[in-house]
Amino acid sequence: MKEKKEENLMDKIVSLCKRRGFVYPNAEIYGGFAGFWDYGPYGLAMKNNIKQLWWKMFVTDREDMYGVDASLITKQDVLQASGHVSGFSDPLADGSRFNTMFRTSVGAGEDSQIAYLRPETAQGIFTNFKNVVDSFHPKLPFGIAQIGKAFRNEIAPRDFIFRLRELEQMEVEYFIYEKEWEASFEMWQKTIWKWIEEIGIDKDKTHELEVADGERAHYSKRTIDFEFDFPFGRKELYGLAYRTDFDLKNHQTSSGVDLSYFDESSHTGAQNRIIPHVIEPSLGIERTMLAILSSAYTEDILGDEPRVYLKLKSSIAPIKVAVFPLLKNKPELVAKAREIYLILKKEHNAVVFDDNGNIGKRYRRQDEIGTPYCVTIDFDTLTDDTVTVRDRDNGKQERVRIEELVKYIKI
Ligand code: ATP
Repeated sequence: MKEKKEENLMDKIVSLCKRRGFVYPNAEIYGGFAGFWDYGPYGLAMKNNIKQLWWKMFVTDREDMYGVDASLITKQDVLQASGHVSGFSDPLADGSRFNTMFRTSVGAGEDSQIAYLRPETAQGIFTNFKNVVDSFHPKLPFGIAQIGKAFRNEIAPRDFIFRLRELEQMEVEYFIYEKEWEASFEMWQKTIWKWIEEIGIDKDKTHELEVADGERAHYSKRTIDFEFDFPFGRKELYGLAYRTDFDLKNHQTSSGVDLSYFDESSHTGAQNRIIPHVIEPSLGIERTMLAILSSAYTEDILGDEPRVYLKLKSSIAPIKVAVFPLLKNKPELVAKAREIYLILKKEHNAVVFDDNGNIGKRYRRQDEIGTPYCVTIDFDTLTDDTVTVRDRDNGKQERVRIEELVKYIKI
């Protein structure tokens, strides 16, 4: 019974996402394209909110982080050194293995060379390690962060935006002294839990899985998967891995370029040069979005009527405020509502104006996309400069003075 209900939940989320402009099947007019999805205006807004919040928490709020934005197409040498060319594969039904990187070629004729669409953002960080060190002289520990697309030719893409062939990752490679790895691992573990809470993923549905010896990726000495109870089952949401000095060491050997770090804190001559170890929190954007949607999707009864709403954090909601004139055919109400809309839009940006249909329907439309506040301009507004502000979660309305409105709406 529970499973059936959860299955329905998935269908409901997929249909809401399509209908309300969050997520569309890619190339839908040509029958779709498995493993690829496009984002409509609200999905794009939500993704941007997720990325901005992540960048703030993982990069700009800290003093030890540097951002990069590397190429998506990756030189073969890089992925040979990292082990992806030989090892990034999944088993096929007949027992052979299938490399899940998308291969392409760069350049024409004899000059062309094999390259790959990057399967993770991490390698673009390792190959820029020396550049960042040379430009900024950071002290250990420090991190390099990147948000961007990654590509995996998954054998069986499925479950909506859960298993994709084109995905987006938010990754940090955090460079440390080897002896600090446990403390650093714990620090990032805590940060991930803080993140989960901050963006509105249901903590009770999130679980840590200690990945056993033999099941970890080739480079990892310890990995925790953060798993989430998606409507289709408990599955990996994020990964946190101790990658040791595997990547930098291999890139140093393969490229012949010295990637060691000059450790000024020790004064012991030649031993000053070390290869830092690495802790990596790796977060997929689409799985974040799906976990948020699964946590936020709510059905209740409000004013004797069933309704659907997304209980999104206001920082994640694609629209923060909707502004309604009570009646469409009263020019003085519409003019006043436009005036208030422009004030709010200047402040909160993601604000919509809606004068279509009865007010109850307009509320329901906003509930369904998770808009935290609706502001209605009625005849009293024209005489006393107050508006009603309706709260999405409990439907309660409060009269607020226009001059206090911007402050009242907390995003
Ligand atoms: P899985 O076991 O589900 O295939 P993975 O262990 O291969 O995932 P990682 O290589 O650790 O995943 O990638 C880091 C993160 O990138 C994942 O935790 C997930 O959030 C995201 N991710 C990985 N593969 C996909 C995919 N095919 N579609 C969507 N997101 C993905």
